[in-house]
Amino acid sequence: MNAPISRSHPSQSEDVQSLWQKDRDHFIHPFTDFSLFHEQGCDLITDSDGIYVEDAYGHRYIDGIAGLWCVNVGHGRGEIGQAMADQATRMAYFSTFNNLSNAPAAELAAKLAELAPAHLNHVFYSCGGSAANDATIRLVHYYFNRVGKPHKKRILSRNNAYHGTTYLAASLTGIKSNNWDFDTLDHLVTHLSEANLYRRPEDMSEADYCDSLVSELEETIERIGADNIAAFIAEPIMGAGGVLVAPDGYHARMQAVCRANDILYIADEVVTGFGRLGHFFASEAVFDTQPDIINVAKGLSSGYAPLGATLISDELYEVLSTPQGPGGVLSTGFTYSGHPVSCAAALKNIEIIEREGICDNVRETGPYLERRLKTLAHHETVGDIRGSHFMLCIENVADKTSKALLPVEARVGDRVAFEAQQRGLIIRPVGHLNIVSPPLIWDRDVVDRVVDILDESLAATS
Ligand code: PLP
Repeated sequence: MNAPISRSHPSQSEDVQSLWQKDRDHFIHPFTDFSLFHEQGCDLITDSDGIYVEDAYGHRYIDGIAGLWCVNVGHGRGEIGQAMADQATRMAYFSTFNNLSNAPAAELAAKLAELAPAHLNHVFYSCGGSAANDATIRLVHYYFNRVGKPHKKRILSRNNAYHGTTYLAASLTGIKSNNWDFDTLDHLVTHLSEANLYRRPEDMSEADYCDSLVSELEETIERIGADNIAAFIAEPIMGAGGVLVAPDGYHARMQAVCRANDILYIADEVVTGFGRLGHFFASEAVFDTQPDIINVAKGLSSGYAPLGATLISDELYEVLSTPQGPGGVLSTGFTYSGHPVSCAAALKNIEIIEREGICDNVRETGPYLERRLKTLAHHETVGDIRGSHFMLCIENVADKTSKALLPVEARVGDRVAFEAQQRGLIIRPVGHLNIVSPPLIWDRDVVDRVVDILDESLAATS
């Protein structure tokens, strides 16, 4: 069980060997286990098409993770490439500071306002999910300064949340191992319990568990003081922290408590947005919440270009857009806020989602994927299979009854992912978890093939 995972080393072709060497010697990969990296280097993914990606040797894999929860419309969409090329050729970049703008940024902002819940009509652009969350907190603090409540600064987040890795976004993140030996801005963030139905106290019903989580929020507000708390941030379904679906009614109740205490509710829809749960935005359509702010990235451009956005309510915008201070300037933003090429990619991406009925496909195929995946529950190491629609996860355990975890050195998630990759499927290992978050164009035939591969992979790992 603990033997190292051996991958095929790129020795067949000189070109590939040279690329592999350059990568190994010079590219600091994000979220990398250097003990494996030094030993094995990387897999070079060079080509893609629809639901498939290909490595440098021409091995073809079904993409089970949509790149990184983001290639929602699938790979190799020439029309997105063309829209980007057209925009880059016409006007690749110009500032959006100082009342300058560009056509794709304006069109996209209006389109997002049309798609989002009715009160979210204003868009602040950034370059990805972390930056969107970071920029949001800066705007929220500014907002409370402007309305004469300068002590409202603390942000409530949750253990095991993932909100990114800029300094502030990493501080919002509640996955402890992600911040190991890093510093965090603890004076700004308080973490509440995550909603983990699988690991809730054994004798607690789902309803009682939900009550306990809401009570924890109320007690925390009581302890810290509503006057010191600016916002609560939550992923509608917690992603990297374990694809955790909260108990029924959880989000709406948390939002009600926030509202009663003048605490803003921020939905981090970086993963759940743009179709993954069958709707452009999950907050209102699936979870019956009306966030003050929704953050998006990833599926917004299906990963064809870096882009993030903060969708802001009319009420907040009124304050942000009322001139004050030196020159009445809202002094925040990025060189690439509203980047024309990224916005052109996002517009074409949204057009494809609408034209091809991709949200309908997720609503139709998602429950089938869930049902089929759950047939794998009999495997020795499978403790839980959970999630919703195209956002799913297998939790591997040492013992199904006690739910005890396997030792970290067992690398169970890595091993299952390795077995799957040998069989032509890429899924994502995160510790003892295996995440399945595919492009939103899988159909039932693909689901059947994927479940067969996972069945064999889990059998080979047990
Ligand atoms: N928020 C959530 C919910 C995410 O899952 C991620 C990335 O996975 C981020 C924020 C950070 O996005 P990015 O990696 O684009 O900075």
